[in-house]
Amino acid sequence: MKEYRIVLLKGDGIGPEIVTQAVKVLNRAALKFDFRVQFEDALLGGCAIDATGVPLPQETIEKCKVADSTLLGAVGGPKWDSQPGGNRPEAGLLGIRGALGLFANLRPAVIFEPLRGASPLKPEIIGQNLDIMLVRELTGGIYFGERGHKTVNGAQAAYDTEQYSVPEIERIARVGFEMAKKRSGKLCSVDKANVLESSRLWRATVARIGKEEYPEIELSHLYVDNCAMQLVRNPKQFDVIVTSNMFGDILSDEASMISGSIGMLASASLGSGKAGLYEPIHGSAPDIAGTGTANPLATILSAAMMLRYSLDEPQAAQAIEDAVAAVLKIARTPDIWTEGLKKVSCEEMGDLVCNLL
Ligand code: NAD
Repeated sequence: MKEYRIVLLKGDGIGPEIVTQAVKVLNRAALKFDFRVQFEDALLGGCAIDATGVPLPQETIEKCKVADSTLLGAVGGPKWDSQPGGNRPEAGLLGIRGALGLFANLRPAVIFEPLRGASPLKPEIIGQNLDIMLVRELTGGIYFGERGHKTVNGAQAAYDTEQYSVPEIERIARVGFEMAKKRSGKLCSVDKANVLESSRLWRATVARIGKEEYPEIELSHLYVDNCAMQLVRNPKQFDVIVTSNMFGDILSDEASMISGSIGMLASASLGSGKAGLYEPIHGSAPDIAGTGTANPLATILSAAMMLRYSLDEPQAAQAIEDAVAAVLKIARTPDIWTEGLKKVSCEEMGDLVCNLL
């Protein structure tokens, strides 16, 4: 029987509550689909600062490096807001992504049919079964480029630089193409090649990889401003989008908001191996921590992504996603609750997903 070792970084605020529900669902999926999961806790964020003085203890890095994958809740909260920048809980988050060499961020923007009303877009624009996968480069570009202050014509100025090397573009392009291969066979690469030199290299490199390695994939290119517009004008035209760090940062938030509900959105960060870091896109929600009302579905869906992209258990992933779609028709946590449906706690929601599995 296949056995997977998963590190749990429960983190702060609602983190422990939502990860506990995802663990329950993973255990149920393991039973149904005949595999075993072994869980190990490690510290990240505020809880790590309290226990060890730093947000990312070396022990956590070591545990994640040898695991088959890592599931993260969320980190941060007012208790640690006075920590100096490099020692804040969020620094632990950037640190673990860097330490594990995670260069690709996958952000699905999915609308579950029962939640169509939560989208800020009109139903006729959303259409049926909207499901976009945004692949964002995570460790290069302007967020990591040369930066500084200087004096220009006697005035203070500041600058940041966008730089991408060919190997950096090639590896993220391949993640995009592979994703397109697993889905509809369509990939849209987003850049600003009409203005930026780095984008011209991006476009030429993605086009070459497409021609040489993925001739069966239908590749298109869009300028980022046009893409931002198309996402709200006609989102159905997209399946997989691949883009740079900064453009992906902005577009992934735009795309995810089409689904209208922060408690439903999963994400994954991948490196060159199979292991990844899976987490909901929302934060630690300190305002509702401990009340038992947090929505665990984004974390449960992150666990489903882990089964699909890191653990080769696509059937179990699909079954969890189907169970989530089904549960939304009968019960919801307060953040997405609507008249006529059962209002349930975080724990009850986890139980319901397990039962529907
Ligand atoms: P947040 O996402 O934690 O919360 C925003 C709002 O959404 C809050 O009203 C919250 O109650 C609600 N919400 C979020 N997740 C929910 C869920 N699963 N169920 C129900 N409601 C939910 O963002 P914030 O308030 O800006 O940040 C709070 C803390 O989280 C800060 O310390 C921030 O730095 C941290 N943060 C962490 C991550 C991460 O760990 N990846 C991401 C974003 C923010």
